[in-house]
Amino acid sequence: MSSALRREYLSALGLESWVMRGKPAPAAVPRDPGALREADAPRDPAAPREAGVDWPELRARVAACTRCTLCNTRTQSVFGVGNLKAEWLIVGEAPGADEDRQGEPFVGRAGQLLNSMLHAIGLAREQVFIANVLKCRPPGNRDPTASEVAECLPYLEQQIALLKPKIMLAVGRIAAQNLLRTDVTLGRLRQQVHAFGAAQVPLVVTYHPAYLLRTPTDKRKAWEDLKFAREVYARV
Ligand code: URA
Repeated sequence: MSSALRREYLSALGLESWVMRGKPAPAAVPRDPGALREADAPRDPAAPREAGVDWPELRARVAACTRCTLCNTRTQSVFGVGNLKAEWLIVGEAPGADEDRQGEPFVGRAGQLLNSMLHAIGLAREQVFIANVLKCRPPGNRDPTASEVAECLPYLEQQIALLKPKIMLAVGRIAAQNLLRTDVTLGRLRQQVHAFGAAQVPLVVTYHPAYLLRTPTDKRKAWEDLKFAREVYARV
């Protein structure tokens, strides 16, 4: 890679300079408190819950979901955004306050950095699909509980089945550990090609952009991960 191109990538990642852009938040849409809870209905726990469901039906199910108590505190669920033919799937943890208000993943400060991280490897946000392990915001941005993940993960699994990405990039410990069903530290999961699910989708792990905002010294390691992911993608 030429040094000019490398400088361009590093600048986009914010290793040389960093410019944050704000976005106005639209008004919150209140939930209908009288809505029937899906959790009230009996179901076969062995059945894959969303298997065979198409994009519109999956989106509708996520919008109306009451499978866990996060439905009581969310403004809206956050389905995911992007190109339905994307080859890259980016997976984060859960919506934060901005995402809960706007209904789109990674729109806050961490989202701005994620956009730059993608740009650094030549990807526009519109080219990828971005989703989270949890579709609803945990209050106070606490970590997701195991039961919240168990209820919500089938949505992401069906998104993956429909999208058929060539590569997945898990950003942050929560996404990585839940997708890979491990408690190995993020530091040890980086710089390896993992395989997700029955389709064995190549999965690469890097730091969460919110962590990188708090710990900019690790941006260099994230840049190594992004280059690694790009190499893995070039091979598939
Ligand atoms: N952090 C995440 O993990 N996901 C979002 O959508 C926003 C912040």
